[in-house]
Amino acid sequence: MDLHHRQTLQQLDAAHHLHPFNDNAALAKKGTRILTKGEGVYVWDAEGNQLLDAFAGLWCVNVGYGRKELGAVAAKQMEQLAYYNSFFSCTTEPTVQLSAKLAELTPGDLNHAFFTNSGSEANDTILRLVRHFWAVQDQPMKNIIIGRHNGYHGSTVAGASLGGMKGMHKQGGLPIPDIHHIDPPFWFSDGGDLSPEEYGLVAARRLEDKILELGPERVAAFIGEPIMGAIGVWIPPMSYWPEIERICRKYDVLLIADEVICGFGRTGEWFGQQYFGFQADIMPIAKGLSSGYIPIGAVMFNDRVAGVLKEKGGELAHGYTYSGHPVCAAVALENIRILQDEKIVETCKNDTAPYLAKKWAQLGEHPLVGEARIVGMVGALELVPAKPARTNFEDRGKVGVTCRDHALNQGLILRATYDSMLLSPPLVISKAQIDEMAEKAWKALDLTA
Ligand code: PLP
Repeated sequence: MDLHHRQTLQQLDAAHHLHPFNDNAALAKKGTRILTKGEGVYVWDAEGNQLLDAFAGLWCVNVGYGRKELGAVAAKQMEQLAYYNSFFSCTTEPTVQLSAKLAELTPGDLNHAFFTNSGSEANDTILRLVRHFWAVQDQPMKNIIIGRHNGYHGSTVAGASLGGMKGMHKQGGLPIPDIHHIDPPFWFSDGGDLSPEEYGLVAARRLEDKILELGPERVAAFIGEPIMGAIGVWIPPMSYWPEIERICRKYDVLLIADEVICGFGRTGEWFGQQYFGFQADIMPIAKGLSSGYIPIGAVMFNDRVAGVLKEKGGELAHGYTYSGHPVCAAVALENIRILQDEKIVETCKNDTAPYLAKKWAQLGEHPLVGEARIVGMVGALELVPAKPARTNFEDRGKVGVTCRDHALNQGLILRATYDSMLLSPPLVISKAQIDEMAEKAWKALDLTA
């Protein structure tokens, strides 16, 4: 793209486009980076730079960029039937096929899909339908949902309330009533002298304490990400989730696993629950469902919850114009076909993810890295002032941004949350590309140190 055209676009962007999760005044001064093309694990910007996208856009481009099949099915479906809704006793073939495919693919008896446009809307849907689930069983007071501080469940009113991001709560008067938060499991800074497994049990029992404090008859559900992505890829010890499941069963609290990031292969299993060994009653999904090619999300409900909603719920006073959009459903189906036919998740689990784990551990030897954590194709490097102490920099975030910018100058996209350098590449990344990522990341660490 020539310089004049790029600068014109940047000026128009500064004048007319409010960017999410940005200081828009600062961004307008700096100028946005305009992306023009993607192929495999690479994207190109308007200046012609080729960048290895080790963040898969926003944890979502699981099959990689430039898959022509996805464009082709979208075009075909648009030409045949661009839109119909699921409201008026109607549906379309791709929507039905996708519901059945998700029932087959997802763990346990998560057999019922409610379609949304995004992960945030999936969590809004959950808040309303979980409360409805208890209300129609004569327990309207069982309406509290427990989330976790620093959790992320999206940006809508319910999503941001269920999440525990303080910065988000400050804007718009959140959280809404009857949502509580417990401390999340983060052994690195909170585990003290406990082993990770001991600490996992301690952290899970915070849920039991909270349920007993509020009264089990008040608590409708618990929601958590199998791995907490946005806050910095906080990976819980293996003891954590089975204990959470035990507690939820004991007090008849619905267990919601937010698989918006973990779903569709990110952990090396199809779903994070399979990696950690637990079973949710409700599961929001998005991102990897279409590999980000088209906006679509869903909530998967198990037989018990969907049964009550169907038998006792009456008319569901809830839905979106684009719930089950046929074009989005067709693209999601094709994306799942690619993941399955090309054995992308299996290849990650057995071949590329173990290789990545080795490279990641080597990066962990850098003097600036206090912890290199990884599961499957999602990880973080925790930057610290002095190893081996598990203590962060006082001026949190400054070093992380510096490292992120150095990586970008090397042609590598990593995300920084405070001083955690986050990794979540397309699942199709090859070993040679993993080497390239690791070399560039090491250089960025050297330049930062
Ligand atoms: N839940 C989790 C765990 C997420 O990471 C995200 C987004 O990053 C969301 C929900 C929200 O999804 P969306 O941005 O599609 O609304």
